[in-house]
Amino acid sequence: MTIDLRDVIGVPGHSIAFDYSPDLSELLTNSVTEIVGEPRVSGEVRNSAGLLTLRADVTAEVKCVCDRCLREFTREITGEITASLSEAESARDDPEYYFVEGTTLDPGEIIVTELILDAEQSTLCKEDCRGLCVSCGADLNEGDCACKPDIDPRLAALANLLE
Ligand SMILES: [Zn+2]
Ligand SMILES: [Zn+2]
Repeated sequence: MTIDLRDVIGVPGHSIAFDYSPDLSELLTNSVTEIVGEPRVSGEVRNSAGLLTLRADVTAEVKCVCDRCLREFTREITGEITASLSEAESARDDPEYYFVEGTTLDPGEIIVTELILDAEQSTLCKEDCRGLCVSCGADLNEGDCACKPDIDPRLAALANLLE
């Protein structure tokens, strides 16, 4: 999906709206395993006093695997993205701007980049997921397993002495 910016570049006050289903496959990782259904993005590119801004609302549903307990779950991704665009040559290396090459723009690239920047470092089914027992592999969210908690080796030596 590309949008033609000729009606907004150099025309303060003008905007172009877009609404489509973006390709979010670049978001897939070991933890985010599947895009469910059709993601949606709607927004606009607006020229405000000569400055181009892209604003977009994204909604998508993804299938995830919890980093701690390996359980599968689905998560809703919703977000509002705002990005400054510039067709000025100096914007090429400026992290504040997305450089616009020519007069067309693929909003998908910006949306994917912003979503990756926003993504959480870890994928957890719930914030306090207890994960799996390192000894027996039991899912500790379902209750304690029969393994003994790790004992400090110095205390273990003491316990041996007392036996
Ligand atoms: Zn979990
Ligand atoms: Zn265990």
